[in-house]
Amino acid sequence: MRYIKLLLLAFTIACSGTKDSKEESASTQDQVLNVYSHRHYDADKQAFERFTEETGIKINLVKAGADELISRLEMEGENSPADVLITVDAAKLNRAKSMGLLQSVEAKTNNKDGFIDPDKNWYAITYRARVIAYDKEDVAISELSTYEDLASEKWKNRILIRSSSSSYNQSLLSSIIYENGADIAGKWAIGIVENMAREPKGGDRDQIKAIASGVGDLAIVNTYYVGLLLNSDNPEEVKAGQRVGIYFPNQEGRGGHINISGVGVTKNAPNKANAIKFIEFLTSEKIQKFYASTSFEFPVHNNVAPDSTIAAWGEFKIDDLDYASNPDLLDQAIKLFDEAGWN
Ligand code: FE
Repeated sequence: MRYIKLLLLAFTIACSGTKDSKEESASTQDQVLNVYSHRHYDADKQAFERFTEETGIKINLVKAGADELISRLEMEGENSPADVLITVDAAKLNRAKSMGLLQSVEAKTNNKDGFIDPDKNWYAITYRARVIAYDKEDVAISELSTYEDLASEKWKNRILIRSSSSSYNQSLLSSIIYENGADIAGKWAIGIVENMAREPKGGDRDQIKAIASGVGDLAIVNTYYVGLLLNSDNPEEVKAGQRVGIYFPNQEGRGGHINISGVGVTKNAPNKANAIKFIEFLTSEKIQKFYASTSFEFPVHNNVAPDSTIAAWGEFKIDDLDYASNPDLLDQAIKLFDEAGWN
């Protein structure tokens, strides 16, 4: 009996290399989805639980930074258990795509134009605008204009921004390279370092809190963090959120920069059908409404409006940064940050 079991096991392992047998064995076992995610929100936990309740598909979640997850996918190769990769910015998804780590899939969504990779290697879940949060007591809105202007001398010792290891900043600098070229973008990074009110530390919410405590006057942050502060249970956080005004830069020109958070199916996803169901679930009208009101991100669904906190800042023009055709922008940005001494 034991011998037969061992033989069966050997047979299963021998077959597990082929796609068909993988899908067959999945259907006879518990349905699972292996998720590698850089997202770090309570909202995801709740959304994933709803997915499991509705579909019976259990989620195994691995959380880490995008670079770490991409290296892991690369190292694991064909044997990777991962079905999907979720990042907080599309530049990282495009990096994974250009490394051949993702595959094209057909998912039914009602995403806005531009919020699906042209080759369907990834689908956006949400987006966030990278805006200027300014101290309403010390800065007049008429003083603000573009990201580029933040490198000018009038902002010396007044700017708060997180470290250059942040996907959000790498993507913002990519957009400046895309628009102005590497020379100007490099000088911009140096100018921002010179204008910093302090060495980069903490996340986006910490920059706004630093404005509230008088450390600096301007912060470059993502909109959803301001939404989270304004809707926090902690009165100090609400107060910090109320201290700042939100300014969408470059509205006269190319438009403001956004960070797209999205999901791609991995090249060798063992549970591809479940991965597609997951994309369709996350981009569905009800989950898009849930994200809008819980994590204060912009929905990608055509029929879902942003939360009223976010909508109150008004509509804005988005830049047309094309990562898909420019996968090396990200590496250029990282190099320029290093050269500028932006920690
Ligand atoms: Fe974030």
